Amino acid sequence: MIYLDHAAATPISKKVLKKMEPYFLHDFFNPSAAYMPAKKVNAKYEAAKANIAHTIGAKSSDLIITAGATEANNLAFTAIKKPRDAKKVLYLETEHDSVRQIAQKYGGEKIKVHSSGIIDLNDLKNKITDETELVSIALVNNEIGTIQPLAEVSAIIRDVKIQRLKKGIKTKLLLHSDASQALNLIDINVARLGIDLLTMNSAKVYGPKGVGALYVSHDAKLNPIILGGGQENGLRSGTENVPGVIGFAEALEEAKKHLASNRKKYANWKKVLLKELHDYELINKKHTLDNFIVICYNRIDAERLIFLLEEKDVYVSTGAACAASKGVRSHVLKAIGLSDTQIAGSLRITLGETNDESQIKKAAKIINEVVEKERERIKNVG
Ligand code: PLP
Repeated sequence: MIYLDHAAATPISKKVLKKMEPYFLHDFFNPSAAYMPAKKVNAKYEAAKANIAHTIGAKSSDLIITAGATEANNLAFTAIKKPRDAKKVLYLETEHDSVRQIAQKYGGEKIKVHSSGIIDLNDLKNKITDETELVSIALVNNEIGTIQPLAEVSAIIRDVKIQRLKKGIKTKLLLHSDASQALNLIDINVARLGIDLLTMNSAKVYGPKGVGALYVSHDAKLNPIILGGGQENGLRSGTENVPGVIGFAEALEEAKKHLASNRKKYANWKKVLLKELHDYELINKKHTLDNFIVICYNRIDAERLIFLLEEKDVYVSTGAACAASKGVRSHVLKAIGLSDTQIAGSLRITLGETNDESQIKKAAKIINEVVEKERERIKNVG
């Protein structure tokens, strides 16, 4: 099997799984229980949480553990008190559905991207009003891997805050970023980047699925979306997912150790792949994470290509896994100005730890053969 869809899911690392195992079997106690074995589990949970927070330059008390990034994104928007309050929310048009849908519920307005997929900073400047309370921009896009210039965004937000102070306007302005796809390869420091709310996702960093976190700065006041026993500062009730958090912390620690070497490795594989492939158009050329490759084959149906490649044991995607399964045309590729035929012919390849260089070369050969055969078929059909 040659798996080239690491943006959709990453396998759990063996080291991570080993760290989690005792918390399923022996140290299974509820961290809220009063007896000593449970207290010890609670201490391990808190230590793991502190380690997760540390990887983004934050404290454990700033983190709310959630059951994944979707939940963290939804929780971030509770910083706005009234849903459907137009003018208060701005979000990038290329955001993941878990941001888009909640932003739309809050009456959010879209910020445009350039054809590179990078945020149009002028559009952001023009759309921020004195009523804007939340701006949501993913650090890395999950379909094309574009890295957004968050430092520039937060500089704009800082200027707006200064202006508001001068005008005596007390409305807060928060920056939220979904960093689901970024944690693997980018060193993030929330204070340095001026981020108030940061979504983290274990499932994309070789950690367990169904675990995530939301970093919350002191400026942001959230409301719970899940009520109950009051865990996670009362913002996310439910018995703590101890093995999940232990695994997430370990996965992040491993990722952090190899950030630079992995970036270099993927950049090299990307170069190899693009050199070996024939007759394609590279869609994501600028400011992208090194493991994201989006290519378009003229007049070819990428959906069909995916099935043909699966027959050869090569696994790729047409875009976000959830959008692809619903047969919905990618809003991201549309936003960067691709035509319907270009969108229909686009493949997303995301490299990762299950790969090696020989696999990349083999995959390129198989993709070339399948595309060539498909072109022949189309020609014969007329
Ligand atoms: N945000 C981004 C950018 C993603 O890539 C994903 C995963 O597909 C999510 C959010 C949702 O994550 P989860 O399914 O773990 O809730």
